[in-house]
Amino acid sequence: MTVLATNFLPFSRALIEEDEINAVVEVLRSGWLTTGPRVREFEAAFAKYIGSEHAVALSSCTAALNLALAAIGIGEAEEVILPTMTFASTAEVVLYFKARPVLVDCAPGTFHIDPQQIERAITSRTKAIIPVHYAGHACDMDAILDIAQRHGLKIVDDAAHALPALHRGKMVGTLADITCFSFYATKTMTTGEGGMITTANQEYAERIRMLSLHGISKDAWKRYTAEGSWRYDILEMGYKYNLTDMQAAIGIAQLAKCDRMCARRNALAARYSAALRELEAFKLPVVPEGLSHAWHLYVIEANSAYLCIDRDRVIEELKLRGIGTSVHFIPLHRHTLYQGLGYRRGQFPYAEERFQGAISLPLFAAMSDEESDRVIEALHDIASKFKR
Ligand SMILES: *Cc1c(COP(=O)(O)O)cnc(C)c1O
Repeated sequence: MTVLATNFLPFSRALIEEDEINAVVEVLRSGWLTTGPRVREFEAAFAKYIGSEHAVALSSCTAALNLALAAIGIGEAEEVILPTMTFASTAEVVLYFKARPVLVDCAPGTFHIDPQQIERAITSRTKAIIPVHYAGHACDMDAILDIAQRHGLKIVDDAAHALPALHRGKMVGTLADITCFSFYATKTMTTGEGGMITTANQEYAERIRMLSLHGISKDAWKRYTAEGSWRYDILEMGYKYNLTDMQAAIGIAQLAKCDRMCARRNALAARYSAALRELEAFKLPVVPEGLSHAWHLYVIEANSAYLCIDRDRVIEELKLRGIGTSVHFIPLHRHTLYQGLGYRRGQFPYAEERFQGAISLPLFAAMSDEESDRVIEALHDIASKFKR
C-alpha cells in the first residue's frame, strides 16, 4: 500500500518559540550549565503556579516517583497500589525498593483506577497508593483520599498527564502527600526531559532534594559558586537526578505559557468532540463533572459493533492518511516483567476492554485547526469505509 499523505502529522510536536530558544542561549552564554539559578527560579515559579509549599526539579517524572517513594520510606516487601493502566515508570519505581506493585483495574467504562478495587487490594503490607491522573483529569480523589486516611496510607500522585488540572477547585499537585510531574517531550509542557515534585511537607522536599544529588548534604550544587565551600558530606546513598539550568530555562518559558497551551488543547479537544460526536465507530472520552482537564491525551475507542476492522487496523489506516497516533497504555499486567510477578492476561477486564479499542489522537498546543480537520476527516472516512 502507498502512503497517501505527503506531510505526516505527528502524534505530538512541542511548542518551542523564540523565548525558549533565547533562554537556553542565555544560559549557554552564562557559563553555568548545570543545576543553578535557573533551576531555583523554575522551582519557585512552579510552586507558585501549583499553589504548593515546595517544588523540587528533577531529571524526569520517573526520578520524581522514585524519590517520592524514598521520601515516604517504602521498604522491602511492602506494597504499593497503582493502576495497571499506566506507563512503565509508575510501577518500576516500586520494584527499585524490592517492594511489590499491586496492580488494580480501571473503574468500569473509564481509564482511571477504581477506588473500590483499591480498597479491596489493601493488606497489612500496603504502604501507599499511586493514582495516575490519566489523560489529564484527576482520578476520583475524594474516594482515594478517604481510603488513604482510613487505612493510614500515603498518596504519591503520578501527575505526568495532569498539568494543569483542577479537582473540585484544587490544583493537582496540592492533593497528595507528594505529586510527580513530567516534562518529557510529549507532555503538556516540556524541558525535553525533566520532572518536578510538589509537596506541602518540608521534610519530604528536603530529603528529595538531598537524594537527587548523591545524598550529599544541603545545597551541594553551590559548592562551585562563590557562596559554596568545597566541603561536603555524603549522608546516605543517593542518585544523580538533578535538572540542568538549560532545561530549567526552557521550563520557565514553557510554564509562562502553560495556561495558553492548555486553553489551546481544550479548544482542540472540544473541536474533536463536536466533529466526531455522531460517529458510532468511535467512543469519545467522557469527562466527569467538577474537574478541569489538562487534555494531555484525547483517547477514542474503536467500537467493534460499528467497525469491521480492529484498533490496530484503524491505526494503520490513520498512518496511511499521514496521521500519527499512539496507544496509552498496554496495561502493565500484559507485559513480560509483570507476568513474571504473577500477573496474567485477562486479569483486569476493564483495562483489557479499554486497551482493546484505545487510540490516542494527535493533540498538542502547536496543532492547527487544519491539522485537526485532517484527523477528523480521516476518521470520518475510515468510519464509512469500514462500516460494519
Ligand atoms: C510520561 C509518563 C511518566 C514518565 O515520565 P518521564 O518524565 O518520562 O520519566 C510516568 N507516568 C506516566 C503516566 C507517564 O505518562
